[in-house]
This record gives sequence, C-alpha cells and structure tokens, in this order.
Amino acid sequence: MTADTATQAQSQPFQAEVAELLHLMVHSVYSETDIFLRELISNASDACDKLRYEAIAAPDLMADGAPPKIRILPNKKADTLTVIDNGIGMNRQELIDNLGTIARSGTKSFLSKLTEAKDGAGLIGQFGVGFYAAFMVADRIVVTSRRAGTDEVWTWSSSGGSGFEIAPGSEEDAKRLTRGTEIALHLKSDAKKYLETYEIERIVGAYSDNIQFPIELVPEEGEPRQINSASALWQRSKSELTAEDYKQAYRSITNAYDDPAMTLHYRAEGRQSYAVLLFAPSNKPLDPFEPQRKGKVKLYVRRVFISDDADLLPAYLRFIRGVIDSEDLPLNISREMLQNNPQLAQIRKAVTSRIVSELENLSEKEPNVFTGIWDAFGALIKEGLWEDHERRQKLLALSRFTSTVGERRSLRQYVENLKPNQTEIYYLTGASVERLKSNPKLESAGARGVEVLLLTDPVDAFWTSAQLEFEGKPLKSLSQGDVDFGSIPLLEEKSREDKDKPAADEDAIVAVIKDTLGERVSDVRASQRLTSSASCLVAEGGGPDRVLERLLARQTRGSLTKPILEINMRHPLVTAVATARDIQKDLAFLLLEQAQILEGELPEDPAAFAGRLNQLVLRGLVTR
Ligand code: ADP
Ligand code: MG
Repeated sequence: MTADTATQAQSQPFQAEVAELLHLMVHSVYSETDIFLRELISNASDACDKLRYEAIAAPDLMADGAPPKIRILPNKKADTLTVIDNGIGMNRQELIDNLGTIARSGTKSFLSKLTEAKDGAGLIGQFGVGFYAAFMVADRIVVTSRRAGTDEVWTWSSSGGSGFEIAPGSEEDAKRLTRGTEIALHLKSDAKKYLETYEIERIVGAYSDNIQFPIELVPEEGEPRQINSASALWQRSKSELTAEDYKQAYRSITNAYDDPAMTLHYRAEGRQSYAVLLFAPSNKPLDPFEPQRKGKVKLYVRRVFISDDADLLPAYLRFIRGVIDSEDLPLNISREMLQNNPQLAQIRKAVTSRIVSELENLSEKEPNVFTGIWDAFGALIKEGLWEDHERRQKLLALSRFTSTVGERRSLRQYVENLKPNQTEIYYLTGASVERLKSNPKLESAGARGVEVLLLTDPVDAFWTSAQLEFEGKPLKSLSQGDVDFGSIPLLEEKSREDKDKPAADEDAIVAVIKDTLGERVSDVRASQRLTSSASCLVAEGGGPDRVLERLLARQTRGSLTKPILEINMRHPLVTAVATARDIQKDLAFLLLEQAQILEGELPEDPAAFAGRLNQLVLRGLVTR
C-alpha cells in the first residue's frame, strides 16, 4: 500500500463475475428478498465466531470485554437498515478482497444457472454469494469496518453497478466502531417494509433463531431487545426439540434453504464426550463434485467455533452438514494441529460409522426418504466403496443401481433375482443407460434373463476395479475377461438349438482374423456374450475395465492396452470369413471397427473403414 492509498478514497471495479451477479439480482425479480437479512446475519455470526477463535490465542482482541453480538437498527427517517457486529472486522485489503470478488470456482456455471432459474433464492443460498444479496433491497450500501486489534477504520461503499469506493473512515466512525463491521443498507423504495420491527422479528425468528450470538433489535424508540434464543441447539436434549426446531436449526447453522432429509442428533459419552448435530440436505448442491468442496461440518470445542475445515468426515460424506462440539479437545488447538489429532480421528471414525448406520436405518424404515438422499448424493457415497475399506460391505448394501431389470436396485434384490447356476453379479459401465442398453455385450445375459447393472457415474469405473464381492458373489464386468454363461439356462428353447449348432471351422476363422489384425488386438476368441451382434471388444480379466482405461488414458494422455476381440460364431458376417475368401481381410477389419464404434471409440483409420464398408455394400448390391 502506498502512502496515498492509506489515506485517500479510491474507486475500484468489481470483478467481472460480481458485476454480472449484481446486474442479475437487480434486474430480475426474486420473490424471496427476505434472504438478504439472514445472509448478513450469517456473516456477522461468522465474524463473531472468528473473533472468539482468534481471541483464544490473542485475548487482547477482546480486551474491551464486550461479548460478541449482532445488532439490527432500522431508521425510518434515513430509510436505512443497519446490521452491526462486534466480530473480527475487516481491514482495507479484506474489504476489497471479500466484498469485490467471489473467491470461488464454479461461479460461471452458477451465474448461467441463475440466469435461467425462476427461483434464484435457493441457488443464491447454495452458492453462498450471501453479501451481494443485500443489493436486492438496497440501492446503496455502506460498510464500515475495523479489524479487531487495529486502529484503522475503513468504509466500503457501492451502489451496485460496476464498482465500489474504498475510503478511510471518519473520526466519528472510529469512535463509534471499536471493532467489527457495520453494514448500512439504503433501502429501495419497494423494500421499506424491512424497516418495520415486526418484519425484522419475523425473519430473524424464521431463519436466524439458532444463531449462537445474541441478535438485538434496536428500535428507533424504546429499548433494544434480544430477538433470538441464541442457544446452542445441539446441546439441548432431543426430547425438548420438535421437527420444526431441527428444520430451523438446519437452515441457520448450515445457511441452507431446503429442508433436511436426514437429521442425526446425539451425545457421545465415554472416552470422549461430544455432541453431534448433523444433517443430510434434501437438495443436491450445484457443485457436488467440486474437489475443493469440503464437508461443511463445523467443529466446536465447548461451544466455541474452531473450524469448518477440519476433515471431520471422509470425503464421500461431504454432503453432510452440521456441528460436532467436543468437550475434551483443548480450546487453543491450532488448525494445523487438527490435521493429525488422535482424539479427532476417533471422533471421525465413530461419527462416520454412526452416519452409515443411520443411512441403513433410513433405507429400511423410510425407503422414500432414503431414495431421495441416494438420488441426490449416491454418486458421492459410491466413492466410499473405493475409499472406505472398513465400511465397504455396508456401503455396498446401501448402494442402489439402475439395471436391466429396473431402477434403484439394491444388491440384495439382485442376489434374490439370481438365475439358476448364476454365481456372479454382472455389470457394464458406460456413459448413459440408453447407450448401455443397446450394448451387444448384454445379449447373452439377456437371452438368459440374467440381470445386469448399468453403471453410468464416472466414479463407477473406479470402485468396480476393486474386485468387490457381495454376499459371496463377485462383481464381474461384462466387458472384461471371460464370462461363462454356459451353465445358466436360456429363456427360450429355440435359442438353445441355435446355440448347440456348431459353428463351422471355428478355429480357422479365429486364426484368419487374428492373423489379419495382428498387433491391433491382444487376442481373438469366440464370444459367450453375444447372440445377435457380430463382435465386441473386451479387456483382460483382472485389470481395469475398458471404460476406466479410457478415462485414465485421457488424463495421462497414455494409450489404451490392446483389447480382446470377441466374435459371435453364429453371425453370418463371421461365418462368411470362412466362405468368402476374397474378402476375408476386409471382414476381419470390419469386425474390429464395428466393435470399436460400439464402444464409442473411433476406428484407427476412419477413411479406410468407410472404404471397406462401401465396397461390401456395393458387392451386396451387385450380386443381388
Ligand atoms: P461467504 O459468507 O459465503 O463467504 P459472503 O458473500 O456472505 O460469502 O461474504 C463474503 C466474505 O466477506 C466473507 O467470507 C467474509 O470474509 C467477509 N464478510 C462479510 N461480512 C462480514 C462481516 N460482517 N464481518 C467480517 N467479514 C465479513
Ligand atoms: Mg455469507
């Protein structure tokens, strides 16, 4: 900072995304403008949490002895609504960074969704662009702030539009504000209702009652009064609380806008004591897969907020929100120490198991609720099949899959549906259920009524490579290794006759094709999988399946291993290899190229492929 900027007012542009967001908020009509207040209160509460945490190591920050609190001041003469907290505050650079940019990835996709959506409120809440929501009700905002423990007061002001102004605060500002942040909203003419005390009480009661710090309403006339209960709800006993209490707690603790689909509230006593209040949201967030999106479970120690970044749960449970409040951890635990704290590791382990068994419970007792959670977060939970060795079997039992039989099938249902002599659980991975349903590798299974799981989430390619079993039945990819359906009876006798008909010159056909294709394939063999298609590609048993290989190859720019070409000995194109000697080589190539296309891959030489195809078609036309 130069000497100038330290003392002078300065205009600064918003980051492009912020400008676009503000434009959208000002020009589209969202019915739920109320949300601005809970966003500001939520920020004020975060600021009080941060102050209390920093004051553990630096007690001077709270030297004035004033406990953290939040005040709301309506002023009808000035048409302003002011929200004040005596939390951590912001210095000049923090004002610029925090209130001029959105430091989050995925902002672009959020903005485009916001442009399309009718109900922006939920989206705004989910994405957490909280502060800017105030521009829905204010045409000018003045933020005055003093970082706790510093002398400087700064004001940030903006009328929306393209930028803001940052200036040193006046002497009067400095006197008034000993620490924390004051946000003055100059209300738009159609937002004057927020000056009414009953409106403010209504909104705070509905959304912010569970904020841990006192929220005081300071009316123009009369005494200030506290308008929230400011208790740590998770410390209360379950029997005192109603479903409505939990719903409100969920919304104010996690800053969410939906209802909780699952609520888990208990107190652990014993070697360690801690209170747990966790929720599964019912809405899927916009960016559930964003890798840097960590679980937002907040760690408290004896009711003091410590961190929302403490890896309290494994990554596959990162949709879970809420609070864990420990009685035993030291208050002055640094965030670095959280990383490998053995007590915390124990809590993590116990709470993870508890969540998994709660999900099990739900799946049995309230299948509809469970289905909702699975539809929203199943793709995340499946990451646990790969990561969480300890709970793998439980997670497998919880998992639901689309199969050739129906949607949301559990493996238990699958196992009950096994065909005579069937000893394996079959699956195929791919990009979409529609594509998979027409995959020739399903043919033989289809002819026997054997159910096949159709796995289409990217994560499926990974966990399936862990060679899992369910109730003693190994999971087996239909695009990998050998499959032997021989002992499973066919559904229709007619096809049995077909099957028993020996294919002519089987070995000779395989030899010719192998010879022609040479290095392009690792092997050629007669297929057990196919009944009507001519050929397909499969991978070696034991290794990664072809979908995973393609994913990995794309990431590492590596090459795929050579596939095995399986051919259907009863298909006329295959038997023609033995009879039509002049086009043997073209047929061999076509069998490979067709199979590649069915896999979603390109033939090595598309022009040569088209040439071959044309020739054979013409030949058919001429000899007709
Ligand atoms: P989020 O709360 O999700 O981070 P917001 O838009 O609500 O997003 O706020 C942006 C940032 O501005 C906050 O992360 C915080 O650093 C800062 N901030 C906002 N309000 C306050 C406040 N009252 N006191 C201190 N910092 C604040
Ligand atoms: Mg916020």
